[in-house]
Amino acid sequence: MVIFVDMDEVMADTYGAHIEIYNKEFKECLTLETCMGHEVWHTVPKDRQLSVKNHARNKGFFRGLKPIADSKAVLRELSLSHEVYIASAAMQFPNSLEEKSEWLDEHFPFIPWQQRILCGHKHILKGDVLIDDRSYNLESFEGRSLMFTSPHNVNISGFERADNWQEIAEKLL
Ligand SMILES: [Mg+2]
Repeated sequence: MVIFVDMDEVMADTYGAHIEIYNKEFKECLTLETCMGHEVWHTVPKDRQLSVKNHARNKGFFRGLKPIADSKAVLRELSLSHEVYIASAAMQFPNSLEEKSEWLDEHFPFIPWQQRILCGHKHILKGDVLIDDRSYNLESFEGRSLMFTSPHNVNISGFERADNWQEIAEKLL
């Protein structure tokens, strides 16, 4: 199978990073639980929303993200028996392309550059499986769309879901 895998909130903990940076900057103690069902920026006071939205523009933001639990082990296994491509929107934030590339070199060196698609729209992707946390990416995919559960998408229905990488392993290995 040709499997496309999104990075942010599937392989990399972008959501957790937003909370961590916000708490540090404003000396708050925002938690995952209080943000559940929303974007992080949406749960903070109005005058701080722009600051959260701009996290992704900060140098180093994408480079320092933590890998999502079990993503490394399961992707390594998947790539032995399937064609695995990383498919990540990298053109929205100018600094993200290089940082994402370096991040993959560090954490997922077994996925070579030829299998990394740092792209704009994902509706051009043609393959068997797309694992992504955003409904707008999954909706247009003609293969099997797997919604990877993230705090922001817990209330969205209508997609086959995987709550974690162990579930991906059960479905695809
Ligand atoms: Mg994502």
